[in-house]
Amino acid sequence: MAKTTKPSLYRVGRARTGLGLFATADIPAGKLLIEYTGNRIPTREAREIDKRRANKYLFEIDNRFTIDGSPRSNLARYVNHSCDPNTEAESNRGRMMFRTVRKIAEGEEITLDYGEEHMELYFGPAGCLCDACKAAKRKPSASKPSASKATKRKSSERKSVKARR
Ligand SMILES: [Zn+2]
Repeated sequence: MAKTTKPSLYRVGRARTGLGLFATADIPAGKLLIEYTGNRIPTREAREIDKRRANKYLFEIDNRFTIDGSPRSNLARYVNHSCDPNTEAESNRGRMMFRTVRKIAEGEEITLDYGEEHMELYFGPAGCLCDACKAAKRKPSASKPSASKATKRKSSERKSVKARR
């Protein structure tokens, strides 16, 4: 395995809802931070599981393979959703990595935009409670953060990204 993940850069800690992953040092933008690991299952099978809302740790790589990231050894499963995230997922030869999209300060929670279908399936009636959405709710005139526009996907796609390059 490539040395792209350094456990010293993050730790699991208490987040707003349950657990989250937090930076233990300042992390620069553009850094491959952590790999989303787990068993690969056929995406067809993953879609059936999603219909039953039975596993929120499925991360689709493409139409063929999905990673089942439910093992606790997969620390990336603790990364919570934000509509204004500080990492983005990228797939590279069947592996899924989270890369920082801006500088993350020590102590800051590491977040990713999991996309609308994931939110519809696994978020309760209160909807998204990320900091960006809470700020938007405080200011009723403000719409959702613009950062979420870039990651909007077709509703048929789950927690998935297109391979870059
Ligand atoms: Zn949100």
